[in-house]
Amino acid sequence: MKENIAFKLEIDYIERLSADMYKLMEELFPLCRSITGKGVRDTLEIIGKHIPIQVEEVPSGTQAFDWTVPKEWNIKDAYIRDSKGEKIVDFNSSNLHVVNYSIPVDRKMTLEELKPYIHTLPEHPDWIPYVTSYYKDSWGFCMTHNQYMNLQEDEYEVLIDSSLENGSLTYGELCLKGEKEDEILLTCYICHPSMCNDNLSGTVLLTFLAKELMRLDLIYSYRFLFIPETIGAITWLSNNEKKVSNIKSGLVATCVGDSGALTYKRSRKGDSLIDKAVERVLKESGAEYKIMDFFPYGSDERQFSSPGFALDIGSLMRTPYGCYNEYHTSADNLGFISPNHLYDSLLKYRQVIEIIENNRTFLNMNPKCEPQLGRQGIYEQLGGQYGTEKDIKHAILWVLNLSDGSNSLLDIATRSGMGFRSIRSASDVLAAAGLVTEMKLEGLD
Ligand code: ZN
Repeated sequence: MKENIAFKLEIDYIERLSADMYKLMEELFPLCRSITGKGVRDTLEIIGKHIPIQVEEVPSGTQAFDWTVPKEWNIKDAYIRDSKGEKIVDFNSSNLHVVNYSIPVDRKMTLEELKPYIHTLPEHPDWIPYVTSYYKDSWGFCMTHNQYMNLQEDEYEVLIDSSLENGSLTYGELCLKGEKEDEILLTCYICHPSMCNDNLSGTVLLTFLAKELMRLDLIYSYRFLFIPETIGAITWLSNNEKKVSNIKSGLVATCVGDSGALTYKRSRKGDSLIDKAVERVLKESGAEYKIMDFFPYGSDERQFSSPGFALDIGSLMRTPYGCYNEYHTSADNLGFISPNHLYDSLLKYRQVIEIIENNRTFLNMNPKCEPQLGRQGIYEQLGGQYGTEKDIKHAILWVLNLSDGSNSLLDIATRSGMGFRSIRSASDVLAAAGLVTEMKLEGLD
């Protein structure tokens, strides 16, 4: 049996890792990402300095099920200039000022003509909203409501120096091969411009998670995707149908940097391996957490869980998209997330993987009544490791009782409410004494 994978938790290591995650956020934050274009390529190039991702380009016009890969969007500059020559809105100060995927514009307009093209958030007058127009030829500017209220009658020079041309959709992929072909999918979206929680946080978390897993001998394989949301997932699924059969479970990483409680959105099935593993980690954390049942909107779990694929994909977040005021605004910035919360989320992802890697099923070799454990010194072997003497006895008895070949250690931990590591340790001691025997590890099914 492979050695337990358990992750290092020294304090200086935690501090360094939290700081490194935040630093990567700061580096990626200014880039103007979208579902295609240079911002995505630049983002993947930076991620590529940390982990060896494969960058793929899928040409515009490629059919992906009911969708078509759109023209590539790039932008060099955008502004609104008043008659005094002063830029009242400047793309260079925030890329949220331009509606993402705006067609090129170069014209003079009165205030009345311009108003229909301006988006604001009256309820948060200091924030700039994030607006997109991916599949409709249109354009617009976003600004704070205060700025909007101060606009005077004037002749404005309106420029959006963008291009929509045949190019490609870009995504990044990394597959870490384990002993088994069965895979866990870990996916995030890289299409949002300057916003942190949604979803640079997920991108940064998966980059560091991949970095950690690369150092370990893994039983299962792990596929990381850095894709534009929706069209990226659909394009990937369409181009990689053959790979899908190996994917047994997975998580969409999004909104993992804010101070809210961890929130888990269950997979479509609701009680799959990933659901049990995540819920166990959250329960064992001792911190407050929330569980949400699956719903067919949200992020890319919708595509991976569509009936033709029906993958068990959950999403482990902190405050979910749409549930915080700063969502899809300029206030979802570097101040809204913190190194500590990013790290805490990473830790939970690692613990989920630790459970999956260490989950086994045993068979009780002495199934007719309990073996005489005192005689064999079983309890002493676990002494002091996990909990009180009573806890140790209980862990032993749970493993013996439920190890009829149909319950995994994770099932036993879930049913007993005991820590996974305690259950795993009990099984190790029982296996060493020949009281249980490990069943052949087939895969993740
Ligand atoms: Zn979003």
